[in-house]
Amino acid sequence: MTFFVLVTDEVDERGLSDLSGDPDFVVDRIDDSSAPEFAQSLARVHAVIVRSATTVDAAMLEAAPELKVVARAGVGVDNIDVDAASRRGIAVFNAPSGNTMAAAELTMALILAVMRHVAEADRSVRDGEWERSRFQGVELEGRTLGLIGAGRVGGEVVTRARSFGMEVIVYDPYLTDSRARELGFRLTDLDVLLESADVVSIHVPLTSETEALLGAEELASMKSSAYLVNIARGGVVDESALAEALSHGRLAGAALDVYETEPLPADSPLRQAPNLVMTPHIGAATQDAQVRVAAEVAQRIRDALTAGDLSAALNRAALD
Ligand code: NAD
Repeated sequence: MTFFVLVTDEVDERGLSDLSGDPDFVVDRIDDSSAPEFAQSLARVHAVIVRSATTVDAAMLEAAPELKVVARAGVGVDNIDVDAASRRGIAVFNAPSGNTMAAAELTMALILAVMRHVAEADRSVRDGEWERSRFQGVELEGRTLGLIGAGRVGGEVVTRARSFGMEVIVYDPYLTDSRARELGFRLTDLDVLLESADVVSIHVPLTSETEALLGAEELASMKSSAYLVNIARGGVVDESALAEALSHGRLAGAALDVYETEPLPADSPLRQAPNLVMTPHIGAATQDAQVRVAAEVAQRIRDALTAGDLSAALNRAALD
């Protein structure tokens, strides 16, 4: 049997070589969902691979009668209507671990960038200035990092932060004390974390529980010398409240890789906020991670289509 796979977003070719080099698989790459070939391909596909540019909604699933698997080459599946897929018996996979290192390393890069004014200092040198005193920063050594969520990415941030001499505290109601002991951090309440951390870094998924987890009140409970970093998902932090807190000096700085709306709207208050480092959702954007996540979803698709292995499907319970 020939299996048809449609790749709609930029997914690394090298990672997919296991499928594209197999005569049992035909891999179509079409990134324009309005193109006629897209609809033709959908009509026959057994698996679709997306990153974040494509929204897999109920209508797209309806247009793919043979579809068995939707795979996201990354972690978050908020661009996939998982309930609609479950209703149609379609398995949804992600690639949960392939970009963990990339995200953990960007977290450290952003913490350092905001605490040492790297982006602002760079702009100033390019503008012909040589203002050393304006860019006096603070060190990580001896400071407390508060992590909201310590799963795969958060866990890697813990070990990196400790190598910088930071004490790490974590708010994650789903973690066991034994994992905390193993990684060498202290579990605490959100209130205590916000009041005591010098750097708060967010590593939770966007869920009904985490949406707007940090609003005006929570930001106000942080120290005015503290920094906030979010590379997890936009929507966990209230952006207007953050812009306001930065503008009034109620926080020392912040760094964001993810936003409530992406791309960031032209009129977002974040654009005018001081002491803010922003990157355009590049947490997973390393060559290494892209090859890894593509290979991870290729493996899942092969296992699902050739051996019926749905054990790693996110909606496995619903499919059962
Ligand atoms: P994970 O599932 O391994 O870890 C998430 C952790 O959050 C878990 O330990 C879970 O117990 C905890 N958690 C869940 N709900 C919580 C709540 N209400 N309060 C506190 N903790 C809670 O996920 P991960 O792979 O570590 O990814 C973390 C986040 O980073 C996800 O949102 C993911 O989408 C995002 N991410 C972003 C990029 C990027 O490109 N910027 C790259 C990789 C991951």
